[in-house]
Amino acid sequence: MTPLLKVERLSKFYGQRIGCADVSFDLYPGEVMGIVGESGSGKSTLLNCMAGHQPLDAGQVLFNTRTDGMRDVVTMSEPERRMLGRTDWAFVHQHARDGLRMNVSAGGNVGERLMAVGERHYGGIRDQAMDWLGRVEIAADRIDDRPKQFSGGMQQRLQIARNLVTGPRLVFMDEPTGGLDVSVQARLLDLLRGLVREMGLSAIIVTHDLAVVRLLADRLMVMKDGHVVETGLTDQVLDDPQHAYSQLLVSSVLQV
Ligand code: ADP
Ligand code: MG
Repeated sequence: MTPLLKVERLSKFYGQRIGCADVSFDLYPGEVMGIVGESGSGKSTLLNCMAGHQPLDAGQVLFNTRTDGMRDVVTMSEPERRMLGRTDWAFVHQHARDGLRMNVSAGGNVGERLMAVGERHYGGIRDQAMDWLGRVEIAADRIDDRPKQFSGGMQQRLQIARNLVTGPRLVFMDEPTGGLDVSVQARLLDLLRGLVREMGLSAIIVTHDLAVVRLLADRLMVMKDGHVVETGLTDQVLDDPQHAYSQLLVSSVLQV
């Protein structure tokens, strides 16, 4: 099987400081990869470089495109990359405000993505937006409200609806449950797990919360100081970590 995404020797530096170094892995269709590590270990840098949000210093990010097979995202033209970001890719930010238009209605936030992929029929767009609000447990009578009027958990669910409505082939998520109250996190996690299973999503999820990857990820990459120190099946890594750092991480000795 051809990988959906193939990352080869990706490195990113901030001056002298390592963002992430020499990261390689393959992601297969339908697979969820978790990236864990304490704060500052390079998780967001890696994710942003893969998603084309940040320039990288070395390496390749090959994506299996619908039309042209494996293409290096790094050397793609900006319009091509933007198109990918609107169609095949989705990016769920830690802070909903970074992934939503706060002054546009909930329905508009979801509908906008459909319009970006060429849907023109107003009624159809509104119906799909309504359907997706329901799927993320936002009441239909909130469709014309703006995200500003929503709680943090609702905003995050709206961001997820906006990202998934077009059926993306690859979803990037950066700390999707971060910054929310514990009870709200649990509900969001449950919802995400349902969607991942139902849609057979391919995703890369960055988190410092091992409970998130335990529930969502098939495979894990453990990062430390910008380097990948261990990769493996989620249960294997969490139940029988091989690297000393992973052992610390799993035993919660580290305050992450
Ligand atoms: P994580 O997401 O795991 O918390 P980051 O990718 O944000 O880690 O950061 C990795 C390293 O890169 C850290 O040492 C961090 O201080 C540094 N870093 C991240 N973003 C920047 C930036 N814009 N400028 C300079 N250094 C940065
Ligand atoms: Mg981060």
